[in-house]
Amino acid sequence: PALINIVGGGLAGAEAAWQAQRQGVRVCLFEMKPERFSPAHQSPLLGELVCSNSLRSEAPDSAIGLLKNELRRLGSLIMGAAAASRVPAGKALAVDRQAFARFITEALAEQPDVEIVRQEVTALNFSEPAVIATGPLTTDSMAESLRELTGREQLHFYDAISPIVFADSINHDIVFRASRYGAGDDYLNCPLTEADYQTFYQALTTAELMPLRTFEEARFFEGCLPIEVMAARGYQTLLFGPMKPVGLMDPHTGRQPFAVVQLRQENREGELYNLVGFQTRLKYGEQRRVLRLLPGLEQAEFARLGSVHRNTFIHSPGLLTRFLNFAARPQLFLGGQITGVEGYLESTAMGWLAGVNAARLARQQPLLSPPPETAMGALVRHITNTEVRDFQPMNVNFGLFPALPGRVPKKGRGAAYAQRALEALEAWLARL
Ligand code: FAD
Repeated sequence: PALINIVGGGLAGAEAAWQAQRQGVRVCLFEMKPERFSPAHQSPLLGELVCSNSLRSEAPDSAIGLLKNELRRLGSLIMGAAAASRVPAGKALAVDRQAFARFITEALAEQPDVEIVRQEVTALNFSEPAVIATGPLTTDSMAESLRELTGREQLHFYDAISPIVFADSINHDIVFRASRYGAGDDYLNCPLTEADYQTFYQALTTAELMPLRTFEEARFFEGCLPIEVMAARGYQTLLFGPMKPVGLMDPHTGRQPFAVVQLRQENREGELYNLVGFQTRLKYGEQRRVLRLLPGLEQAEFARLGSVHRNTFIHSPGLLTRFLNFAARPQLFLGGQITGVEGYLESTAMGWLAGVNAARLARQQPLLSPPPETAMGALVRHITNTEVRDFQPMNVNFGLFPALPGRVPKKGRGAAYAQRALEALEAWLARL
């Protein structure tokens, strides 16, 4: 049979290898452990969970629950391992990490067509199709090879993520639509009085921060400082930074507010808005509490909270096709977190697709891309959407999905997205 190479035996690489051998190709899976460990990896096993042992919610009407059901339907090795190693965790799917990783390692080792090579890969000089799934802590030499391929600007080592809110949780009686100096009306603006600003400033500068991981330094780029770091520099700093009010007139008062927070549309459907320049390392609970002090965001529901993390990822839009290979180098696929998704199962899903497609390319079969209505398809759409101005890694969430037709009450929306997704998945599988 034809051969493919996979680099990285994490969640994505293991899933890719499993799917590829199921497609009838031989797989050479390169994993640098135990010869070399990233700063977060410790176990020689494949499919190691580097942090939490939770794969998040099982609720079938949540986006992550839906992704689980899709992966199950698609014969995912990682979901099989989770079923075999699950531990009680209420509505979440949590696993015994040792049993989980052992299941994955043994399942792959038993496959006659999978060869596991314990070796670091530094170059991209494969003659067969290859999947790179080296994860958020990709080694420097591999990062350098990817940078040569994509260009310096396209590879990121940190993500500085601003929180994202659902549009329908914003109080539109308070926020107003405008761009600075009357140059259009692309932004929603939360207006603050001086008293509002004082309250917010006080809460921000006394809120609790997320602990730094041992291998992360509190060293940030001046261009994207966390808001609490800016605030700590002085009472006025934010007023000259992301909260500056100049060029904005509040139509409710006819005056320029004391401060503003600008919200920028995040997706085509306008269901998600990000808080411009509001990357933050506050603890998640603290973010909700502090940001809900902003006028217009009292009831805000967050699709994603802010963070500043070490994370290697490619600026995928414009570089990757919807089949997860490079447009400029079709034999080379990316899988996992390095594609610009965030999370264990999101990474797994991007491994599934890269593995299937690398195998199909090796067998000269047409490549596949899941329908955009599915959770997997929505993630592919996120990482290949060239219309997003400020591309950042994302967990799966319904804001990434094409809008539902008509008005569906909020309570039933998750179930409606999920039902549509599973139907689209079945129709897609039937067509294959
Ligand atoms: P990984 O699982 O990291 O796998 C990559 C593999 O490639 C590793 O085994 C590594 O040893 C190997 N490798 C790297 N470079 C090379 C090379 N050059 N040659 C050969 N092998 C190589 N997500 C969550 O959902 N929940 C969490 O709690 C969570 N915590 C995280 C904590 C940390 C510290 C980090 C960095 C990320 C965390 N994530 C979390 C995000 C992400 O979901 C996980 O990192 C996930 O494991 C990514 O899967 P992956 O397969 O893309 O990469």
